[in-house]
Amino acid sequence: MRIIDGIYLVGGAGYNLSGGCNVYVIDAGGELILVDVGHEGDVEYVKENITDEDMNPRDVSTLLITHSHLDHAGGAAKAKETFNCRLAAHELTAKAIEEGFQGSQGPFTPAEVELKLRGGETLIFGDIEVEVLDTPGHTREGGDLCYKIVVDGKVILFTGYSLQVLEGVDGWTPRVGLAGLRNLGGSRTIP
Ligand SMILES: [Zn+2]
Repeated sequence: MRIIDGIYLVGGAGYNLSGGCNVYVIDAGGELILVDVGHEGDVEYVKENITDEDMNPRDVSTLLITHSHLDHAGGAAKAKETFNCRLAAHELTAKAIEEGFQGSQGPFTPAEVELKLRGGETLIFGDIEVEVLDTPGHTREGGDLCYKIVVDGKVILFTGYSLQVLEGVDGWTPRVGLAGLRNLGGSRTIP
């Protein structure tokens, strides 16, 4: 489903049976960037949806992961196998993916993360610049990122669920790190 030129929804909310988080493709001109991928079982549906949009799943070069919850990152290993892509995530999220264990949600298939991020980086893919924002507060273990791009003068922010800050559980106190999301006049946020 086309969101705007160059950005497509290819998974989530039951879209073609994909049941995990919302999954987006950014067409960077010559290569495709995925934002999140859902559970392991969602990856095949994501692949089908990319094909249905007349794009080639083999053009996916990189999977950008917003945080380590399994409905966003659980399919990371399967995505690498399916798309032959690199993984990019916050270094804390990368630790969970490489160990195959999410602190609150348990085990999943591990995978190597090639791009370990901390926020503040700018990643270049084809003709797209992706700004990496450190936005802690959603995942108890830390490692929440938002990804920002500018298309036709519009700021597009891929948030995962970072705008939803969990309340303290078992003494855990959420750190609200959304200061980086201010001053985005004319922006759209995409959860
Ligand atoms: Zn989450």
